[in-house]
Parts: sequence; C-alpha cells; structure tokens
Amino acid sequence: MKSQYAVIGLGRFGASISKELVQLGNEVLGIDKDEEAVDEMSSELTHTVVADATDEDVLKSLGIRNFDCAVVAIGDDIQSSILAAIVLKDLGVKKVVAKALSELHGKVLDKIGVDRVIYPERDMGIRVAHQLVSPNLLDYIEISKDYTIAELSVPKRICGLSIRELDPRAKYGCSVVAINKKTGVIIAPTATDVVNEKDIMVIIGTNDQIEEFENEVI
Ligand code: ADP
Repeated sequence: MKSQYAVIGLGRFGASISKELVQLGNEVLGIDKDEEAVDEMSSELTHTVVADATDEDVLKSLGIRNFDCAVVAIGDDIQSSILAAIVLKDLGVKKVVAKALSELHGKVLDKIGVDRVIYPERDMGIRVAHQLVSPNLLDYIEISKDYTIAELSVPKRICGLSIRELDPRAKYGCSVVAINKKTGVIIAPTATDVVNEKDIMVIIGTNDQIEEFENEVI
C-alpha cells in the first residue's frame, strides 16, 4: 500500500532516502529551505516545497500531521534538526525518524521522543569494517547482541559441495537458511542442495559460529 512520507532536508542523505521511497512506490513530500536543493529534486519526488522545517505554522499548513512518517535528514545544523523533530512530534506525526550526527545529538532526539534515531556515518563505518575484515561477507543483519544473519559469497574452494558435505550445523552450529543463485533463491535448502561459484549463502547463527564457519570454510 502507498504510504505518505515527508523528508526534511534534501542533502545527500535526504535525497537518497526520498528517491528510494518513491522507487518503492510511496508518495514523498521533500522539504528544504534551500531553493536549489528543492529544484534538483522537484522532478523526482511527488511534491517538493521550499520551507523552513523549524517553523511550526509552515509544517501545519502542509498538513504534515497526516503523513505516515517524517524523516528529519538535516545534516550539520543540529539545532534545526532538533527543532524540526520537536515540531513534528508536537504536531502528532505518527512516526518520526531522524538522522543523528553524534551520540549526544542522538540522545537529545531520543529524549524528544523521536521514534527511530539513525546514525548513517557510524553504522556505515561499522558495516564497512566488518566487510573489510571478512572479504566474503556481503551484508549482515544483527538480530540481537549475539545472533546475526550473514550473506556470504561462495568461494571457488567449496563450489560443488552440498549442504550435507559442508554440514555447518553439526560442525559450527550455524545454519544455511537460503542460497541465492542466479536462477533463483532456494529457501531452507535441503542436505542435497549444492553451492556453486557466484552463489550467495545466507547463514544464521551466533557471531562466534558464523566467524568460525567463515574462517574454516569460506
Ligand atoms: P548531507 O550530509 O545528507 O548531505 P547536508 O547537511 O548537506 O546533509 O544537507 C542538509 C539539508 O537540510 C540541506 O539541503 C539544508 O538546506 C537542509 N536544511 C537545513 N536546515 C533546514 C531547515 N530548518 N529547514 C529545511 N531544510 C533545512
């Protein structure tokens, strides 16, 4: 179903989020106080407007409270980011997401009642570090402090081996939950399913189990 998003601040981060939301089939109102930033995005988004997002009356007149979600993507101007977030929460927007530049900025946004605080630079730094340390790691999701789902590319060495031969559950305690092949995704592969070069294995387990599997098999 189509949802309505407002993205405040159309810098690199805001522009990227708002374009992707449109791609995913949603309606997006882009707001920026800089006319040039708005002009650049006007053909890509459903609506765009030049406005100062710290001005409560302006946001009210845009009917912002009826949006499903507002994203505060203001970058360096921490004061504006905090003020915009307060105004959005006060106006009763259902879900407010805001980008934080530092831990302290994030703490303030949390205290205001922002529903989700994101730290794009910090999180991307952590992600890239993991990928540098494990070259076969394509992506991962931490499902708790201890458990992770990891996407690993299949190296040449183990091509042609079946899940039975790899036997990750018995040997390392982690499980292959899917194999992504060019021809399609095998969900919950069986013992006889085989991995080939350029396949991507999706593994679930504790961080230690996945690390051991990576070190010994991948
Ligand atoms: P990024 O690092 O994502 O590129 P920037 O700091 O460059 O972030 O961009 C943030 C955007 O937010 C800028 O285009 C700026 O004009 C906009 N912005 C800053 N303060 C306000 C405000 N009070 N109201 C609306 N837009 C704002």
